[in-house]
Amino acid sequence: MNEGKKPLNCIAQIIERDLAEGFPRAALRFRFPPEPNGYLHIGHAKAICLNFGLGKDYGAAVNLRYDDTDPGKAKREFVDSIQRDIAWLGFQWDRLVFASDHFEQLYEWAIEMIERGKAYVDDQDQPAIHAQRKTPTEPGIASPYRDRSVSENRVRFKEMRAGEWAPGSCVLRAKIDMRSPNMQLRDPILYRIIDKPHHRTGDQWHIYPTYDWAHGQSDYIEGVSHSFCTSEFENHRPLYDYLIERLGESRSALRPKQREFARLNLSYTVMSKRKLALLVQRGVVKAWDDPRMPTISGLRRRGYTPESIRDFCDRIGVSKRENTIDIAALEYSIRHHLNRAAPRVMVVLNPVKLIIDNYPEDETEWLETENNPERENAGVREIPFTKALYIERADFQEMASPEYFRLTLGSEVRLKSAYIIKGVGVVKDEDGNISEIHATCDPDSRSGSGTAASQRRVKGTLHWVSAAHSVKIEVRLYDRLFDDPEPDGHEDKDFMDFINPDSLAVRSAYAEPSVQFLPTGHRVQFQRLGYFSVDPDSTEEKKVFNRIVTLRDTYARIQSKS
Ligand code: ATP
Ligand code: MG
Repeated sequence: MNEGKKPLNCIAQIIERDLAEGFPRAALRFRFPPEPNGYLHIGHAKAICLNFGLGKDYGAAVNLRYDDTDPGKAKREFVDSIQRDIAWLGFQWDRLVFASDHFEQLYEWAIEMIERGKAYVDDQDQPAIHAQRKTPTEPGIASPYRDRSVSENRVRFKEMRAGEWAPGSCVLRAKIDMRSPNMQLRDPILYRIIDKPHHRTGDQWHIYPTYDWAHGQSDYIEGVSHSFCTSEFENHRPLYDYLIERLGESRSALRPKQREFARLNLSYTVMSKRKLALLVQRGVVKAWDDPRMPTISGLRRRGYTPESIRDFCDRIGVSKRENTIDIAALEYSIRHHLNRAAPRVMVVLNPVKLIIDNYPEDETEWLETENNPERENAGVREIPFTKALYIERADFQEMASPEYFRLTLGSEVRLKSAYIIKGVGVVKDEDGNISEIHATCDPDSRSGSGTAASQRRVKGTLHWVSAAHSVKIEVRLYDRLFDDPEPDGHEDKDFMDFINPDSLAVRSAYAEPSVQFLPTGHRVQFQRLGYFSVDPDSTEEKKVFNRIVTLRDTYARIQSKS
């Protein structure tokens, strides 16, 4: 938005303050801590741009740390996709670490906690523990196991590790304060027994640390200076600090600092890996990278560029206050990028034949047309013009109002980079549908020919393709995946109730011959129709295109109105 001097967001302000108070710049270090239980989504992109962006701004290292503390959920596929997505967004991590790298250290510190009387094994089940916590306005009830002896706790915890106790039979809890108004401090669980193989440690462990125990301690181990997370963790912050302080006075004086920012919510979509996983499992979408998904891989497949996503994250900024961003803002960013970046081609999506009556039967003229009028040096290419063409059905009306600037009988329009034509007649099938439009062209009006007629102004310009030269392509048109602006914001309904049944329309279209040579992933503007990308489903015989976004820019209109 404003190049050069940008006002500092609330997170950068925290860092500036710390530096001003003497925190050594060289000790700045950040991390991005995804749980590998699904593919990253556009919300994660916000956190990635924040953390890696700070890394760039301050010349500080940024770790990619997988939170793989739940062995049932972590998967190799997810681990790999996360790295691919971050790299594609244009960021590089310094260290690649897993919370599981720290399991042994975390265990040793848990033993220390037990020895200092700061942790105990509770034999109650989770519902009982939950019930005893009570509510913030009344004190919780102490577990009957709270005052177990150090030696009993130590023996029991070691047995838990060795797999001698069944899942659910006991947990390790921190002994903090059952009366605290902050529920997180009412003896939180540090370890639970889970008997599932872990994607990295196999069956080495039977106990796994909770988020609260693993996260801050991992930050500490890795020397992370600022641990930025979303606002729902704000009430965990006292626990984060408490557990870091328990690590003992003798250890490094640099303590990591948790600070929060608002999560990104986008209209007309859901943003939780669990919910996105359901869409995949239930076959609502084809895969995690379905172009309708708000995942980074889905956006990439659809044709979004890394630049556009970074630009979007930049525009929405970082703040403490949560809100919902209009999905049109994301569309604005990709249009903004592709307007200059994407070459133009002509494709007719909903074709009707157009015959130029006064054009020679067997002539083909190769007409020069600009690749991109918005970019200097984008060059030109040649497109074939012939007697039989295709234009859009919607670009013709037999009888039209004076405001209709496209083709009608008796009116003139220009065919893009070609001639001015005039509608003279139609042919209809038995059902009365137009099967052919007839027109005549003004032979002196060819674009760029320098004649007076070529300078003549007419109201409308249409895109077209030569019928004989056109190639058939498959076009996938996407609409919103949900037909409600806030699909998971209803108490009485499930987000699955708002699936838009028409989120995908597959069409066959006619394209100018040059599209045959576009490689997978390439992005172009289909003139007057939108921006499209070549989908990996394309074959030698048939190219498949995804519509990234239409050309119409509702967001800019909304902005200019307000
Ligand atoms: P999900 O519910 O989608 O799984 P999560 O927060 O559990 O989200 P993690 O993999 O634990 O996902 O998140 C990694 C990082 O990304 C965390 O720091 C988290 O705060 C951040 N993050 C997740 N969702 C968003 C979002 N919508 N907006 C901004 N940051 C997010
Ligand atoms: Mg999660």
